[in-house]
Amino acid sequence: MDGCLEASLSPLSIPEYVLGCSGRRMPLLGFGTAASPPVGSQLTKTAILQAIELGYRHFDTASLYRTEQPLGEAILEAIAVGLIKSRDELFITSKLWCSDAHGELVLPALQRSLKNLRLEYLDLYLIHWPVSSKPGIYEFPIKQEDFLAMDFKAVWKAMEDCQRLGLTKSIGVSNFSCKKLGDILAFAKIPPAVNQVELNPLWQQKKLREFCKANGILLTAYAPLGAQGTIWGSNRVLECELLKEIAKQKGKTVAQICLRWAYEQGISILVKSFNKDRMKSNLEIFNWSLSQEDVKKINDIPQSRLCSGQDYISKYGPFNTTQELWDGEI
Ligand code: NAP
Repeated sequence: MDGCLEASLSPLSIPEYVLGCSGRRMPLLGFGTAASPPVGSQLTKTAILQAIELGYRHFDTASLYRTEQPLGEAILEAIAVGLIKSRDELFITSKLWCSDAHGELVLPALQRSLKNLRLEYLDLYLIHWPVSSKPGIYEFPIKQEDFLAMDFKAVWKAMEDCQRLGLTKSIGVSNFSCKKLGDILAFAKIPPAVNQVELNPLWQQKKLREFCKANGILLTAYAPLGAQGTIWGSNRVLECELLKEIAKQKGKTVAQICLRWAYEQGISILVKSFNKDRMKSNLEIFNWSLSQEDVKKINDIPQSRLCSGQDYISKYGPFNTTQELWDGEI
C-alpha cells in the first residue's frame, strides 16, 4: 500500500500511513470517541487515557460529539503523567459540523474546536457531512427545514485556507460519495487527504475504495464493527454467522476478524470501545492474518448499508432521498 510504513514487531504497535500532503504519520487503527447514548466527560476522558496507555495514538472527534473537551483534557493529563512526551506523538482528527459548513464560518469553527481541544493544530479536519444547515443552530437531529445545500467551492476553499494557516496539517471529507468527491477534486487546489465513511464486512464500499485509491485519497472506516448499540448502527455485523465461523476457527473475536479484514483492505480504521478489555483486544490484529479463503468468503457477503444517513434527508434540503445523498451508491 502506498505510503504505508511497516508494522514493527510488537503486537501492539500500530502501522502508520504517511499522508502525502503533510508528511504526518496517521496510525492506521484509531480510537473513536462518539458514544451513543452519550456518556459524561469524565468517563470519556478516562477511556481516552486508558486508550493512550494501551497504545492508541490516533483519536477521532467532532464538534458534534462533544468529546473535544475531554480529549483535550486527556491529552494534557497523558503528558503530565508521562504516558506521552508531547502532543506531537498523537494524530488528532476533528470535524466541521453542518451549521458551520459555510465559507465564512469554517475558520471560526476550527478555532473553536482547537480551543476545546487546547491544541494549536489538528492533524486532520474533515467536512462531517456533504450538507449545510442554518448557521448558529447546534442541534441533532437537524430540523427538516434547517437543511441547506452546501456551497462546496466556498467551504472547501475555507478548509484549504485553514491548512495554509497551519491550523490543521491536512483536510478531508466524510460521508462523501465518488460523485461528490469528484466534484471537489474538480476545483480543489489541495485535494482531500481522507474520506471517512461507514465500512465493514457488510458494507465494503468496493467502488469508493477503488475511486479513492485511484485519486490518492485515504479511505477511513467508521463503524468497522457495525456500531452495535448506537443509534446509527446495528448488531448485524457482530452477529453475522459467517464472521462468527471464521472467528471460531481462528480463535479470534468477531470484532478482531472485522478489524483485520479492514486493515488488509489498505484503509485506515476507527473503532470505539470505552471498555478496557475490548479496547485492548481491538488492538491485537497486527501479528496474524486472514487466509485467502476467509477473505474471499468475507468479500462475498451480501452488501447493505447500516448507517443510511436518513437523518440528513429532508424535503426542504438538497437531499430528498438516501439515493440522492449517496448518489445512487447504496
Ligand atoms: P464501531 O466502532 O463499529 O462500534 C462501536 C460499538 O461497538 C460500541 O457500542 C462498542 O461498545 C462496541 N464494541 C467495541 N469493540 C467491541 C468488541 N471488541 N466486541 C463487541 N463490541 C464492541 O462504531 P462507531 O463507534 O460508530 O465507529 C467508530 C468511530 O468512528 C466513532 O466513535 C466516531 O469517532 C467515528 N464515526 C464517524 C462518523 C462520521 O459520520 N464521520 C459516524 C459514526 C462514527 P463498548 O464501548 O461498550 O465496547
